[in-house]
Amino acid sequence: MNNIEFDRQHIWHPYTSATNPLPCYEVASAKGVTLTLADGTELIDGMSSWWAAVHGYNHPALNSAAHQQIDTMSHVMFGGITHQPAIDVSKQLLAMLPDGLDRVFLADSGSVSVEVAIKMAVQYWAAQGQPNKHKLLSPRNGYHGDTFAAMSVCDPVNGMHSVFNQVLKPQIFAPSPQTRFESTWNEDEMLPVIELFEQHHHELAAVILEPVVQGAGGMRMYHKQYLKRMRQLCDEYNVLLICDEIATGFGRTGQLFGCNHADVVPDIICLGKALTGGYLTMAATVCSNDVALGICEGSPGVFMHGPTYMGNPLACAVANASLTLINQNHWPQQVVQIETQLNAELSECRGLSIVKDVRVLGAIGVVETQQALDVAQLQKHFVKHGVWIRPFGKLVYIMPPYVITPQQLSRLTYAILHTLKHFS
Ligand SMILES: *Cc1c(COP(=O)(O)O)cnc(C)c1O
Repeated sequence: MNNIEFDRQHIWHPYTSATNPLPCYEVASAKGVTLTLADGTELIDGMSSWWAAVHGYNHPALNSAAHQQIDTMSHVMFGGITHQPAIDVSKQLLAMLPDGLDRVFLADSGSVSVEVAIKMAVQYWAAQGQPNKHKLLSPRNGYHGDTFAAMSVCDPVNGMHSVFNQVLKPQIFAPSPQTRFESTWNEDEMLPVIELFEQHHHELAAVILEPVVQGAGGMRMYHKQYLKRMRQLCDEYNVLLICDEIATGFGRTGQLFGCNHADVVPDIICLGKALTGGYLTMAATVCSNDVALGICEGSPGVFMHGPTYMGNPLACAVANASLTLINQNHWPQQVVQIETQLNAELSECRGLSIVKDVRVLGAIGVVETQQALDVAQLQKHFVKHGVWIRPFGKLVYIMPPYVITPQQLSRLTYAILHTLKHFS
């Protein structure tokens, strides 16, 4: 049985059928912005392995950090123990984050960091003698991960509510942000949101949202004023604000964090994906001192979470090297250059009959089609064009590594234009 056949019969892939799986491509190695398939085909990567590999693959600085750490200590429990890699990564994170975020919880994945954020919010209000404040308010079209509490705040229509409806905690959903990032703000869109705060603030622990760009829930880019108004409403109605920056963090939207666009400081922030530059699974939930101290005032007096691989030294060491690269500050220019080029080159897709919308923000380019596309067919065409792009539903989108060259990026946009032309 060859690899592809074994894989087909025995291995689950993300959101894939066991009986009729989409075709898989075997990757043998990756370097810079290039994935090399087992048959030698080279593909330019448009996905950064889902927002993560911002520095490109097989990066000498990240490799060296991993090698050094593995020869020192790959892992040690975090209960009753601390270590230099955890100290270093936390120091760097706090220096990068807006003032007011003070305490770092090192979680094992993005979804877990969302669970941790939700537990923090719920435990905070319980400790403040308001256990009735245990629900979350979330804008529609959000995506926050695949674990249960995270799923409960994902979009109730395109998320996983239909399958797990009986199991998910009912949450409160606000209309999704309507004004586009670049358009003129329309304050009217807050009216239904204000109404929800009025009706539900007594039972709301927190608002959870993705600042400025909603990722897997629709790749929507929205006006920063929505974020600003959410912060104001949270303050007014005594509700915590959780910013899920797992996708938007570390420069992707053109600011270091999405919340920087609106000068908003959340009470709790979730970070992941690019945190380790796409090397290892690690995320962080960072909260304010107010939240941290508030949690510990009440019974049981401690924050109730502690995964086995918490603060994994190997992941911390690589994250540390990744943050050092971010702090060298080449990314702002790289992201602006990618944004300018995406705007120029993807706009041609607007002329195609099957295309509904083209949108770009930072190093993110999205082409939305009128109808859902045949992912397997599309992917085949992309591979023929020498690029790795993974569409879903009506969305063909790219968020390439920041180190992509203009020539490589043109290969991606050319492939999108020509593939969509083929399907028009
Ligand atoms: C990917 C993502 C998550 C989940 O992270 P995992 O590491 O896949 O668990 C949560 N929120 C947002 C905004 C994401 O993009």
